[in-house]
Amino acid sequence: VALANQIAAGEVIERPASVVKELVENSLDAGADQITVEVEQGGRRRIRIRDNGTGIDKAELPLALSRHATSKISCLADLEAIMSMGFRGEALASIASVSRLRLTSKPANQSEAWEAWVEGRDMQAQLAPASHPDGTTVDVQDLFFNTPARRKFLRTDKTEFGHIDEVVRRIALGRFDIRLNLSHNQKLIRSYPAATGKEQSLNRLTKVCGAAFTDHAIYLEQQAGPVRLHGWIAPAAHCRHQGDVQYFYVNGRMMRDRLLAHAIRQAYADELSDERSPTFVLYLELPPTDVDVNVHPAKHEVRFHQARQIHDFVLQSLRPVLAGAAR
Ligand code: ADP
Ligand code: MG
Repeated sequence: VALANQIAAGEVIERPASVVKELVENSLDAGADQITVEVEQGGRRRIRIRDNGTGIDKAELPLALSRHATSKISCLADLEAIMSMGFRGEALASIASVSRLRLTSKPANQSEAWEAWVEGRDMQAQLAPASHPDGTTVDVQDLFFNTPARRKFLRTDKTEFGHIDEVVRRIALGRFDIRLNLSHNQKLIRSYPAATGKEQSLNRLTKVCGAAFTDHAIYLEQQAGPVRLHGWIAPAAHCRHQGDVQYFYVNGRMMRDRLLAHAIRQAYADELSDERSPTFVLYLELPPTDVDVNVHPAKHEVRFHQARQIHDFVLQSLRPVLAGAAR
């Protein structure tokens, strides 16, 4: 079992940033609206995520650390209408198999907190009373300490932290309603207060994407039946240096999807004769039954049941906005 976990970990847990992604998604799934990410030495020494979500019952703690113990899917219908972030039930077990992981939690209706960790080759879970406010902390130390091959692939602390920073940015753009803090080596690096309303949302957009993007960005909103596209795009000519502002969310998850990328590039090519550097933060919402998200373990790819229509809807939504900007 331990080995299977380590192998599975390789699929999803490539580097510290993958740990941060999985753990923050768990916090979001748990309904948290305050999440703190603390990392040391680019995450290789420590990654600690605290949230104020629902917490995990004492009896569930050891289960949460075992493989395929997801609380989020109970039938096939759930799989087809998946809305929560994580659903494979293997992230915690995978991370625990390649690190020293401690899970501490207190649900609001439980009077004391408990802490769980796994020890030894058979991955037996241990339990002890702890002190913790309502919510959950996952403390991941010494990532890949027992998988030297994987450890060797890690880059400098600065590079690894850069990847973590990007993961947090993606989440910050995906959920404006969540307060997110990120610190590195005890120093607060990013602080994204919960943003409601237009002004606060623009503040967050600027914090994440830079003023050059916000200054030139045009807000758009288009709806076709149950499919809705909204967000910001900037005519690339205005801010080439922000060429990495490319964020597309499908039902709240950030995606790098070839079909969507093509539709966006096409719109820029048609209206601005420039397909190389589109800059955008876009959100596509559609019925969960119209899209498969379980295509890739890292969940960056989707499969639309009506790919052609989605492609054309995105293309047709962007074209008039870019045409207006070109004038
Ligand atoms: P998955 O997210 O795919 O269900 P994970 O291994 O990531 O699998 O998590 C296992 C289970 O542990 C989750 O289904 C959930 O019940 C519980 N869990 C993990 N993290 C948290 C958290 N931050 N707050 C509450 N419950 C959590
Ligand atoms: Mg998960």
